[in-house]
Amino acid sequence: MMPRIVIAGAGISGLCTAHYLVKVLSAAGREAEILIFETEKEPGGKMRTIRDGGFNLEWGPNGFLTNKPYSLDLVRELGIEGRLAPSSDLARKRFIYSGGRLHRLPETPQSFFASDLLSLAGRLRILWEPFAQGPPPGVDESLGDFARRRLGPEALEKLLDPMVTGIYAGDPDKMSLRSCFPLIHDLERKYGGLVKGMVSLQRERRKAGEKRGMSAGPGGILMSFDDGVQTLTDVLSGLLSEGLHTNVAVESVTRRDGRFLLSLLEGGQRGEIDTDALVLAIPAYAASGALTALDPGISEALSAIPYSPVSVVALGYEQAGMGNPLDGFGFLIPRGEKRKILGALWDSSVFPNRAPDGKALIRAIVGGVRSPELASLPAGALIHLTLEEIAVTMGVTAPPVLSRAFFHEKGIPQYLVGHGKVLERIDARLAEFPGLYLNSNAYRGIALNDCVLQSRLTAERIARELYASPT
Ligand SMILES: Cc1cc2nc3c(=O)[nH]c(=O)nc-3n(C[C@H](O)[C@H](O)[C@H](O)COP(=O)(O)OP(=O)(O)OC[C@H]3O[C@@H](n4cnc5c(N)ncnc54)[C@H](O)[C@@H]3O)c2cc1C
Repeated sequence: MMPRIVIAGAGISGLCTAHYLVKVLSAAGREAEILIFETEKEPGGKMRTIRDGGFNLEWGPNGFLTNKPYSLDLVRELGIEGRLAPSSDLARKRFIYSGGRLHRLPETPQSFFASDLLSLAGRLRILWEPFAQGPPPGVDESLGDFARRRLGPEALEKLLDPMVTGIYAGDPDKMSLRSCFPLIHDLERKYGGLVKGMVSLQRERRKAGEKRGMSAGPGGILMSFDDGVQTLTDVLSGLLSEGLHTNVAVESVTRRDGRFLLSLLEGGQRGEIDTDALVLAIPAYAASGALTALDPGISEALSAIPYSPVSVVALGYEQAGMGNPLDGFGFLIPRGEKRKILGALWDSSVFPNRAPDGKALIRAIVGGVRSPELASLPAGALIHLTLEEIAVTMGVTAPPVLSRAFFHEKGIPQYLVGHGKVLERIDARLAEFPGLYLNSNAYRGIALNDCVLQSRLTAERIARELYASPT
């Protein structure tokens, strides 16, 4: 009989796992029944583009970067390169709000030393980086401790804290360097320092004929699609239409006759289905709930991965009366500034298709672990607060022509110090349940590129393990 593989969750992780399963199984001449259950009425998870008054409003992610190849490879496999929308060059111009004004993030060593974002002492401390103390042995160091040790407290406050806020909406003193930024962790260990590492990498890249310069941002080009990021999940779910069942929640998992037995909830009705392999492509807290009956140990380990709440406030303006050219990618705010938003993205400058002609769009981010209570304000109060903050930070006081608030109550998983140990505990328990897989942004990377890579690896593992002959 054809084996059955069930995937719970139709975000990018679940949809991609299904896509790669179809690909690897057909390449191996294997067949399987692949079913996806998604609790919401639409697939896509966090990737949702909302059209309103000619604006394309991203509910969650802005796009993916080309600094890793995985999303771009997927786009090419799907034959939708023609629908890609690369960000404009303005994406390289990023700002930090400090001391009551926006400072451009320097892109070159010369502009770094000319910039007054950091005090002279703060800049000199960064220069001293090659002589900084090495990493403490055997410690899962926090991002905060790492930055203080290598770059000094001011660089932590004005550079690293906003960066961690922009990606995780998290607290650098609680988050693990190794789990959040494994490349930086490895760079220090391999080359003995960040400057040494970057110089060596540049040299290696030049030798390999690559032309990549320094950038104030994370590197690579930010990519979206003409119709917004949802294009990717729409295309993936379109390919899987037969096996995709929305409005169905996987409530709990148990074992029966050597198979996994799932209890499903569909429109208030309970049902059951059994399966040979199960991929939980749902958030860690949802997986924790679903696995309580199967294994309290794994359920408890999963519940140790917290999420930060974030809300996105989209504001549309008449460009002419706005009084700000939105000349760049947007800005982030260090916590020491004590502002009520975390920063704002100038969406219509980066992707011109986000706003109709003559209009501009910004999206402010509110909440995170810094101020979780603000993320859950009612929409009206949240928009009001954001308008006040936009007036202070950007000098924009014109009334918006559009205002919408999007809530991510459990928005972004936090890879805290000890995250690696949590993953080890989870993997040790999973080894007791062959055929059970966890794949979402909660474990080994939160960027879309990471989700795509982990999905491909999960699909390849399933193809290897499901058909392996019993020993
Ligand atoms: C505001 C915001 C901005 C972001 N910006 C970027 C960005 O610019 N670039 C970038 O690379 N990344 C960004 N990210 C991160 C990225 O969007 C996510 O990491 C990624 O979309 C997560 O995909 P996922 O499939 O793992 O999880 P999700 O998208 O959360 O999908 C999980 C799915 O599981 C479903 N589900 C839950 N429980 C059950 C159940 N019991 N049964 C069945 N289904 C269930 C959910 O409804 C959901 O559809 C951003 C995230 C947020 C919140």
